[in-house]
Amino acid sequence: MSDQNHDVIIIGAGPAGSTTAAFLAGKGHRVLVLEKDKFPRYHVGESMMPFCYYTLEKLGIAHKMNEIGFQQKHSVQFVTTDGRISKPFYFFQHKECESSVTWQVERAVFDEVLADKARENGAEIRESHKVREIVRDEDGTVIGVEIENETGRETLFAKIVIDASGRDAVVSSKSKWRRRDPLLNKIAIWTYYEGAMRDPGLDAGATTVAYIPEKGWFWYIPMRNNRVSVGIVADRDYLYRETNDPAAIFEREIKENVWIQEHLEPGKQTGEFFVTGEYSYRAEYCAADGVLLVGDAFAFLDPVFSSGVFLALKSGELAADYVNKALKSGDTSVDQFDEYGVMVCEAIERMRKIVYAFYDDNFSFAKLIKRHPHLREPLTDLLIGDLFNDQFDELFAAIEEICELPDPVDYGFRTLKPAVPQEAT
Ligand SMILES: Cc1cc2nc3c(=O)[nH]c(=O)nc-3n(C[C@H](O)[C@H](O)[C@H](O)COP(=O)(O)OP(=O)(O)OC[C@H]3O[C@@H](n4cnc5c(N)ncnc54)[C@H](O)[C@@H]3O)c2cc1C
Repeated sequence: MSDQNHDVIIIGAGPAGSTTAAFLAGKGHRVLVLEKDKFPRYHVGESMMPFCYYTLEKLGIAHKMNEIGFQQKHSVQFVTTDGRISKPFYFFQHKECESSVTWQVERAVFDEVLADKARENGAEIRESHKVREIVRDEDGTVIGVEIENETGRETLFAKIVIDASGRDAVVSSKSKWRRRDPLLNKIAIWTYYEGAMRDPGLDAGATTVAYIPEKGWFWYIPMRNNRVSVGIVADRDYLYRETNDPAAIFEREIKENVWIQEHLEPGKQTGEFFVTGEYSYRAEYCAADGVLLVGDAFAFLDPVFSSGVFLALKSGELAADYVNKALKSGDTSVDQFDEYGVMVCEAIERMRKIVYAFYDDNFSFAKLIKRHPHLREPLTDLLIGDLFNDQFDELFAAIEEICELPDPVDYGFRTLKPAVPQEAT
């Protein structure tokens, strides 16, 4: 029997890990979070979805977003390659409520606010502690982790381990559970600008998705302090057709969109160019005995609609609910997490459908709304993050008149059940 001196060990103090930690510690559980980096640390993923509000509110930190002065975001807009701008999707036009305004955040600051909340609620966060191994007992149940820090290696035990390690996806990588989405195989290249152009008034903080050829796109995310996060997402073959140099690719693609060119013209590029591939994956299982996966450690979906932080916060909130119930009942077996996997996967599938539509040559939002003006409402619901509601059948049926939508993937929602011992004959 292991020395289980923590109820819960959480790998990673990103939005998913700190949210789970804050809720569980708030319920009185002994929570240890292991974070490989030292705060404040850089992270991509700055544009939030309006529905992030509700988890932040539950955590008691929604008010801090304006106090800190994060750039407010009221809308999303789409720009064609020749610079034509769609009518912005203003969040308040649909439902005037607390979540009508959201934010563009520097993740170094935002993630630390969440981590501080987890600490305030009683979680212990050890920075510069990298989880190297998952520790299992003789039956394969996860009982702890082996960490490495500047003093060496150590094994730590808990009743349950939650993997919130983001795209490192510690458990999924080590267990070979990671499965790529077959069609969403994109590359992203991004950097930052100072002094680039801002649209006036309410649109100053809008996220802009600006198209380049072959269904590639730029994101343009105006942040506070006169900074803008700008990135390209496109197929590997398209981006790397002439060179692998990210700066050269960036320079070349800016010329593919008039709006982006005009907006970046007065600005100055600053810092490095970042690159990532490994787009859109899900783990084979969301949980096994002793371990549960949240946020990007479970699944990652193309960021075109900024769903990542929302799914990290919401899956963290849900995971905390189920782990709390399991710990209280004294039964932390994998059966406790069957519903969790189904709920998270259903939400991801709703977003995945609209992401697939976005990349389909036949589809455009303008075409959809022209045919079915009344569907602007559920479409906005989807884009603001109302993903845990099953209310989109009519919308998806209408999109299917224009383009094909994917079937749900047949993995991820399941938990890995322990093998049933064979009866002796
Ligand atoms: C190019 C790109 C653009 C994006 N843009 C957006 C956007 O605009 N809006 C949006 O909502 N989302 C966006 N995302 C997605 C968003 O970044 C993620 O969905 C979000 O950060 C997930 O949060 P998380 O807590 O699951 O993981 P993370 O935020 O990645 O946190 C994981 C934490 O675990 C730590 N960790 C990793 N391995 C270990 C280990 N072995 N031991 C200990 N600690 C470990 C990491 O240091 C990190 O702090 C984007 C993603 C990409 C790739």
